Amino acid sequence: MTFLAPAGVRLHLTDLGAGIRLGLEKGCASTLVRQLAHAATRDDAWLFSTGRAAMTVALQAIRSAPGLTGRSEVVIPGYTCYSVAAAVQRAGLTPRLCDVDPYTLSLDPDSLQRIDFGRVLAVISANLYGLPNRLLEIENLARANGAFMIDDAAQALGARYMDRAVGAFGDAGLYSFDKGKVITTLQGGALVAGREFRALIVNQLAEASKTTSLTVTLALLAKLAVYVAGLHPSIYDMVRRLPLGLGTTPYDTHFPIRGYSRVLAGVALQQLRRLDSLNEVRRRNAAGLTMALTGCRSIKPVWPLPEARPVFVRYPVLVDARSRQDLITAFEQGGIGATGSYPAALIDVPQVKQLLPQDQAVTPGAREVAGRIVTLPTHGYVPTGLGDRILRIADSLNSSTRVTLEQ
Ligand SMILES: *Cc1c(COP(=O)(O)O)cnc(C)c1O
Repeated sequence: MTFLAPAGVRLHLTDLGAGIRLGLEKGCASTLVRQLAHAATRDDAWLFSTGRAAMTVALQAIRSAPGLTGRSEVVIPGYTCYSVAAAVQRAGLTPRLCDVDPYTLSLDPDSLQRIDFGRVLAVISANLYGLPNRLLEIENLARANGAFMIDDAAQALGARYMDRAVGAFGDAGLYSFDKGKVITTLQGGALVAGREFRALIVNQLAEASKTTSLTVTLALLAKLAVYVAGLHPSIYDMVRRLPLGLGTTPYDTHFPIRGYSRVLAGVALQQLRRLDSLNEVRRRNAAGLTMALTGCRSIKPVWPLPEARPVFVRYPVLVDARSRQDLITAFEQGGIGATGSYPAALIDVPQVKQLLPQDQAVTPGAREVAGRIVTLPTHGYVPTGLGDRILRIADSLNSSTRVTLEQ
């Protein structure tokens, strides 16, 4: 059977070869740094072993900022990658959850406005699946309240909002090169920021100056080769049955904080060169899904904001919570890697719950997303007509269960 992976970067083994050659050239990491900073119209960039390591270092930098003593909370989206909460904890800070709007997945500006900023050091955006949040409003609210903003573009490299790059809002932006992101070297991350932030961050880079060991790098390159070949739909069906922990979401605060391997920087640079075409394919596939699913009674696409140019690293839809698991199972039986994304709203993750402030407000929007979201693949192996296949599967399931959405 062929099976479409839920997300991924369609690469050739020749891309990997070219990337490794780039990585062995002198100055490759600084070229990547320059290009990432340029993409986000920022002065500078720093490379890290993972996105969560980058996030932790950014938060430690903010924590060291003068004039903010007494502030220890970081506002994070009620529904986002668990690593965001883990990075806040790792930096010795307290997460405070802001609710999200289920129909756009953005931080909800009303909930953000209701937060008492007296103890808030920073606000973090989400931009999940490459769909930009209401970034200008978030930036303005953070600034008006004397808080920093980190624009989490881990899934949104190349996306734009109001004609600004996602990752370019607020004081620092974050990119990730993990599996399932816009470009991937299986692990890796970057921060981009302006001059004022550089002064805060330079004192926090001691740990991140340790580079990845040669053994780890070689193991990652071997895994990357397996990844590149294994994403092919004729092979992925076998890959997904291997015990690789694909698609699991652990909560972990013990991740290493290191620099990025130079060879991996070459592989990332090679993909960055192809960024526009990789994202163009994803947008085109997303447009096909939108066309097929608009008007569908049981599947509602999440709509990007009016001034957003998303990159659709996945295609998010909302379905009825009661039939979600049946739908995902039916899609998988049809060879389509649909997922329920992160299994819970952060307020329902025990390790996060115990960190929350006493007066944490409930986040019904985040709970609704956690219960109803399904993501569909958009990568370069997606065939034309995927939307129709999805519609047929949903319809045949529907006629047996008769679930319709009121929304
Ligand atoms: C993946 C991700 C991160 C963390 O990046 P890693 O490289 O996996 O550590 C942070 N925020 C969001 C929204 C992510 O999707």
